[in-house]
This record gives sequence, C-alpha cells and structure tokens, in this order.
Amino acid sequence: MPKLKRGAPAFFVGPWDLNRVFSCVPDDPGDGTVVLIESEAKGAALPWHAKKLVLVLSAMRHFAAELEAAGYDVAVIRAPTYLDGIRAHVGARGSREVHALRPREHAIDRRFARAEEVGSLGVPLVLHDDGGDAHPFLLPRAEAAAWARAQKPHRAPQRWRQDRFYAFMRARTGWLMEGGKPVGGKLSFDADNRKVPKGKRPPRRLRFAPDTITERTMARVARDFPRTWGSVDGFDWPVTRDDARRALDHFVEAAAARFGPYQDAMLEDEPWMWHALLSVPMNLGLLTPREVVEAALEAHGRGAMPLASCEGFVRQVLGWREYMRLVYWERMPAMRDANELGAKRRLPAFYWEPDTTEMRCVRAAAGQVKETGYAHHIQRLMVLGNLGLLYGAAPLELSHWFWAGFVDAYEWVELPNVHGMALYADPTFTTKPYAASAAYLQRMSDHCGACVYDPKARIGDTACPFNALFWDFMARHRARLDTNPRVRALFSTWDRWDDEHREAIHARAEALRDAWEPTESRWSFRDDDG
Ligand SMILES: Cc1cc2nc3c(=O)[nH]c(=O)nc-3n(C[C@H](O)[C@H](O)[C@H](O)COP(=O)(O)OP(=O)(O)OC[C@H]3O[C@@H](n4cnc5c(N)ncnc54)[C@H](O)[C@@H]3O)c2cc1C
Ligand code: SF4
Repeated sequence: MPKLKRGAPAFFVGPWDLNRVFSCVPDDPGDGTVVLIESEAKGAALPWHAKKLVLVLSAMRHFAAELEAAGYDVAVIRAPTYLDGIRAHVGARGSREVHALRPREHAIDRRFARAEEVGSLGVPLVLHDDGGDAHPFLLPRAEAAAWARAQKPHRAPQRWRQDRFYAFMRARTGWLMEGGKPVGGKLSFDADNRKVPKGKRPPRRLRFAPDTITERTMARVARDFPRTWGSVDGFDWPVTRDDARRALDHFVEAAAARFGPYQDAMLEDEPWMWHALLSVPMNLGLLTPREVVEAALEAHGRGAMPLASCEGFVRQVLGWREYMRLVYWERMPAMRDANELGAKRRLPAFYWEPDTTEMRCVRAAAGQVKETGYAHHIQRLMVLGNLGLLYGAAPLELSHWFWAGFVDAYEWVELPNVHGMALYADPTFTTKPYAASAAYLQRMSDHCGACVYDPKARIGDTACPFNALFWDFMARHRARLDTNPRVRALFSTWDRWDDEHREAIHARAEALRDAWEPTESRWSFRDDDG
C-alpha cells in the first residue's frame, strides 16, 4: 500500500459506484485515498429488504478489499450521513481536495452541489459527471438535459416521448444501425415480443454462494438492522465485479436468445424467466451499461441472439434505463409530489404480507419480492403497479414499498417507474396509464387457472378483483382517458352494459378498496435522509 502524505486528495465512491473504471477512482493508487461511507441515516431511512442491505454493504466491503489488494489506500467510514463521513475523513487526514461522482439521488446530489458551491467541507469538492463512455450512464447529464429541453412538447400533459429518446440514443451510439437506418428496417421489435412460453422452461439461474465477507454481513444485518423486511437467508446476488461479469456471461449464453419473445410472460414458480437479472449489478456500478449492451450485440453478431431479442434488450438498457434517469433529473423534486389522478389510499397490507391475499398473481409477485428482493418487469408493472393504480394507492405509499423492497431500487429509477409508468402520477413522460383487467393477466400468465377468483367475472364475491377495479377506474377517469385513441374503444363496451351492471361494478370496487385499506400505514419513511 502506498504511503500517502497527509493532505493527499480523497476520492469518495458512493455505494452505487463500485467500479474502478469510473473516473472517481484514480488510476494510480499513489494519487489519494478512496473513501467509502456507510451512511447511518440512509440505512435507517426505509424498512429496507434485508437482502438489499446485505447486497450493498457486502459489495462495498468487497470493493474495498479489491482496491486494497490493488495497492490503494482505502478508508471505510461509518457516519451519520455521506457528507459527515467525508468531513470526518478530511478532518482526520487533512485532504486538500475531495473528488466524487455526482450522487445518484436528488436530495443527496443537492447537498453535495451545495457543499461544492459554498465549500462547506473546508476544502474544494470536485463533482464529476456520472454519464459518459465507461460510466454508470451513457449520456452526460448536460447532454441529457439538452435533449429534454430541445423537445417540442408532446400532447399535454405529456412532454417527452420515450420512442423519440430511444431513436436519438440509437443514432447517437450507432448500435443496431446501418447507414443511418435501424438494422431490420424498424427501431422496435416490441410487437414480436409478447409470446407465452408454452411448455418451455427458463434456464437455471446462476446463484452466488456467500463468501466469508458476505456471511459476516448477513450476520450483521440480521443483528443490527431491526427495521427490515424479508430475510438475509438464501442471499445469492453477485457482489463483486468478477461475479457480475459471470452473471452477464451467463445471461448471454443461457437466456439472451429467448429474452425478447417471453419478456412479458409470467409463470407460476418461475421468478426469473429469461430476464437478465442485471439491474442489480448495473445499479451498484459493478457493470457499465456499455459493456452490457456490447455483450448483447456481440451475441447477436455471432448468431446467438436473434435481432428481436437483441433489439428488445438494447431498448431496455439504452432506451428505458437512460430515459428514466433523464426524466428523474428533469422532473425532480416535482416528481416526488406528483399525483395526477389524486390517488390517496394507504397501501394494502398484503404488499408487505403477501401470504394474506388469495389473489394468486399478486401473492406470487409480492411473495417473490419478499423472498428474493426481485420481481421482473411485467410483474412490477402489470401486477403490483397495475393493482396499485386501479386501487388508488397514494403514489408515495407504493413508491416507498418498491424502493425499500427491491434489491435493484434506487430513487432515480424506482420513482419514475412507479410514479410515471405504473401509477401515472407524473404524466409528463408516459403515454397513458398501464391499466389492465384479468384478461391481460390470464393471457400473459399461468396464475389464473388455480386462483380462487374467476378471471372472467366482474361482480360477485369470487370475481377477480382486477376486473371491477379496472372498469371502475376506467369509468372514473373517462374524461381523461377517452381522448386517447388506444383506450377509447373500451368505452363502447362499458356503454353497452345496463346501469345495474355498472353500479354493481362500482359497488364491488368500492367494497374491495374499503376492505383492503389499512387504518394506518405500517412503516414510516425518511426518504431524503443520507
Ligand atoms: C413499478 C416499477 C418499478 C421499477 N423499479 C425499478 C428499480 O427500482 N430499479 C430498476 O433498475 N428498475 C426498475 N424497474 C424497471 C425494470 O422492471 C427493471 O429494471 C427490471 O425488471 C430489472 O430486472 P432485469 O435486470 O432482469 O431486467 P430485464 O428485463 O432483463 O431488462 C434488462 C435491463 O433493462 C433495464 N430496464 C428495463 N426496463 C427498465 C425501466 N423501465 N427502467 C429502467 N431500466 C430498465 C434494466 O437495467 C434491466 O437490467 C421498475 C419497473 C416498474 C414497472
Ligand atoms: S384470477 Fe385475478 S387475482 Fe387470480 S390470478 Fe388471475 S388475475 Fe390474478
């Protein structure tokens, strides 16, 4: 380890930036100390999933060990907040300056920007962009903001369109482009990607057995964090860059070819399907989006990933992940309080206690989150999010559940997905609410066959709750929704039913909502802390 002189610069690496290729870790270990901080405030801010705490804390310890083995001087500090930790390090070591990548969370980013501006650390704080080539995001923040501000407003209240952003990113990167045109003649193969895997079973998931560092972290989380959800038992997520690379290779070899066609499908007892499971290492910084996309392009190039699958995957990472990060920074802090539909209900207790519901699809999805910290995109959007939308969950109630419960959740990505995609609470960047009845869930999953509820019925005690809630939602928001040509056709069905049937639907929906709404919220949140 180099003997660093007092005053050597400090390089703060957030627990979301655990990668030596990012600019904040100096190339030469002799250039300064790498500082990692466990923020006590962030650890206590939400009732985190126990596996998420293990993931983050263990990945930090592994990263510190990896740097030390490479000759770096590393300080791991436990402090009330990230800035307090940096301040303590500067005080103890007299660092003459501090470097950091821009934090990923709005409130923390504001505090760092203020410290940079007013010099509250007592020494210069230099913040570096988190976007760029080998960075956590492909687009520099200024370029993302310039794109957003150059857009002509779409149909109000929508201001930005994901398909336009995706077209911009494809042109910018040249990925799956030939002579300025998309390979295969169209930008999106989404329409080819809605198949149900009849008789096919997904590949085995690669699991990562806990090593000594992870085992110690599991014991610590179980002992020292009483306000957690789920359990540390069975923890098997990748926590090092080497393991993350193995997870990427495994996806490319075992699942990538079928990623596209089955990405919207749900099978009972198959939590992982053909999904990449790469949001976890990507959001920790263990993998960069560039290397993930390049691996898919390479597989496509050698014929191991059909174009529809490859394009679908590239769209998720290049189109959706970058887009969500862009709208987060454009819309914060307003996005946090957005509530376009005026939804106010407390979250039903079965999100936290999935065993207490008999809705089979909900129990499977929420149960899986409680068990593993993960559910795939369609479970998030069309089961857990859709139900929250139809029920009328207050946006922050659902948002906090997603943020606390998922191992890949950080505010920059969870909030736009929940408030924008799932709940339509912030309507500035999505086209319409993703509302669906049991017909959709029955088509895309195998849950309904063994469910106590009847997916075809709208009223009566055994009717699937999604149906009454769906029609009630559509009718309540008709004025807003039937301007959208994609949903207008539905209302002709509603209009054909007699008043009595329509009233019975409203009554069933209201009864469900009243029965599900708890008298008080079980958990409290201090989401800006850290
Ligand atoms: C209500 C809701 C909440 C969500 N919360 C999160 C979250 O907290 N963290 C998170 O990373 N993703 C979130 N997503 C997006 C998406 O569901 C996950 O990225 C994906 O399920 C992660 O699993 P995977 O790696 O197997 O993804 P795959 O389905 O294999 O997709 C590949 C990659 O594409 C990216 N991606 C795909 N869709 C999105 C999207 N809508 N937004 C951002 N990235 C996307 C992810 O990096 C993902 O790893 C949420 C979606 C919804 C509808
Ligand atoms: S019947 Fe309804 S609640 Fe049951 S699994 Fe199907 S969609 Fe879900």
